Amino acid sequence: MARLRVVTIFDEDYQVLRQKARKVNRFGPELARLAEDMLETMRESHGVGLAAPQIGLSIRLFVAEVPEDMEDEPHAGETHVFVNPKIVKVGREEVEREEGCLSIPGIYGDVWRADEVVVRAQDVKGKPFRLRAKGFLARIILHEYDHLEGILFVDRVEDPSTLHTYEEDDDGELIPVPVEFPRHLIRPVQQPVLVRK
Ligand SMILES: [Zn+2]
Repeated sequence: MARLRVVTIFDEDYQVLRQKARKVNRFGPELARLAEDMLETMRESHGVGLAAPQIGLSIRLFVAEVPEDMEDEPHAGETHVFVNPKIVKVGREEVEREEGCLSIPGIYGDVWRADEVVVRAQDVKGKPFRLRAKGFLARIILHEYDHLEGILFVDRVEDPSTLHTYEEDDDGELIPVPVEFPRHLIRPVQQPVLVRK
């Protein structure tokens, strides 16, 4: 397995993060290895999801993993790979929760997301599947799906002045500290998630 370079919004080649990714047409061992490398990269970076554009590949693929120790989460410990995902249903209830992104390192902000989604996708062999996800996994899926559309979580933060980072105080506690995030890197989105039947 290999650890891949994660493209950040501050990098010269950040454009890949702003493109609409194209459909995957080739399935098999190569795609399986790519997904494994993405999972490894995600875990080593302490992330819970990673989309192909984040490693410089503009294709419709992302991985997600709900940490095992999130015991209250319905999908704790689950690992998923989504190829050519389609969000086919979005729950009516929305929850606001803090998000971060490996492509926007050190920056966090609160985002409203549906608490439940139904996604249709293919696995690395091209086999179709359907998954109903609740809670944190639903959030990860919506965040990663956005990456395939060129959307970043900062675009969905209601008030960008609430974006923050964390710093250690004298006792080693992490405390939120406001950051001046470059406004030109934000492209506010109003439209909800695109639901395709
Ligand atoms: Zn992200």
